[in-house]
Amino acid sequence: FDSWFAPDTGAATTESIPTIAPATLDAREISAWFGDHKVLDRVSLTMPAGRVTALIGPSGCGKSTFLRTLNRMHELVPSASLAGEVLLDDVDIYDASRRITEARRQIGMVFQKPNPFPAMSIADNVLAGLALTGIKLDKGAKTDLVEETLTKAGLWNEVKDRLRQAGGGLSGGQQQRLCIARSLAVRPRVLLMDEPCSALDPTSTRRIEQTITELAQDVTVVIVTHNMQQAQRVSDRCAFFLAEAGTPGAIVEHGPTEAMFGSPQDARTADYVNGRF
Ligand code: ADP
Ligand code: MG
Repeated sequence: FDSWFAPDTGAATTESIPTIAPATLDAREISAWFGDHKVLDRVSLTMPAGRVTALIGPSGCGKSTFLRTLNRMHELVPSASLAGEVLLDDVDIYDASRRITEARRQIGMVFQKPNPFPAMSIADNVLAGLALTGIKLDKGAKTDLVEETLTKAGLWNEVKDRLRQAGGGLSGGQQQRLCIARSLAVRPRVLLMDEPCSALDPTSTRRIEQTITELAQDVTVVIVTHNMQQAQRVSDRCAFFLAEAGTPGAIVEHGPTEAMFGSPQDARTADYVNGRF
C-alpha cells in the first residue's frame, strides 16, 4: 500500500496548504457528563496561542475528558453531554453552523498509545489526514509536506531513506513522532496531547519533549501529563485538576508553570506537585 507514489487520480487543486497561526483556545464554564455522572464542573481555562499548557492532576479527575471536549472528540461517546463554550480565537467550535471535521482539523490530537496506520507507509501516514480536509495536493506538494512535517516532528533524519516502509515497523517513540507529524500535516492551530510519552522509554520521552518545545512557535500545545518533571520542562502554564471525594473534576489552580511549582497558592496544589498524593 503506497498511494503516495502511485499516480494521482483527479486534479490537484491546491499547491500547498496555507500556513496558519497558532490560536488561543478558551474554555468557558465547561461541565461534562457521562449519562448522569457529572465528571467536570464549570472548568474555565485560557490556553494562549503559541504556548504549551500542561494539564496535571490525579487519575480520574477529568483531564482526558476536558481535553476531548476541546476538539469535540468526546462526542464519539454516545452517553457524553456538555455545557459551556470552547472558543478558538473567539469562534465557538460548538456553534451549530460549524462542522465537526473543521474543528478537528484545526485542533489536532495525539494519544497515549502511538496509533499510526501500521501497514501504511511512513509517507502515507503523514498524509492520511488530508483526505478529511478535502485538500488535494499534487505530488510535489505532498513530497514537500512530508519532509516539512517529519522535520517538525523531529523524525525526518531517521526515516528519510525509508519513507515507503510501513509505519508499524518504527520504534514506539518514532511511531509517536509519526503521529505528531500526521497531526501537523493538516496545519492545525492547536495540538492536544493526552499523556503522549507514558508508553515510551526515557530517551524517546526526551525526544518528544524536545519536539513539543520546538512546536510551540507553530501551534498551541495542550498536554496532559502525570510527570511533574515533564510538566516543568515543557510547559509555560499549568492547570491542576482535582475531583475531591465524589465531586466532579474542577481546576484548583492554574497559572505560569514556575509559579505553580515554585509558589503554589493552594495547599492541595503544593501537595500534588511535591508528590504527596
Ligand atoms: P483522567 O484523564 O484525569 O484520568 P478521565 O477524563 O479519563 O480522567 O475520567 C474522568 C471521569 O470520567 C472518571 O470518573 C471516569 O471513570 C469517567 N469516564 C471517562 N470516560 C468515560 C466513558 N467513556 N464513559 C463513562 N465514564 C467515563
Ligand atoms: Mg486520562
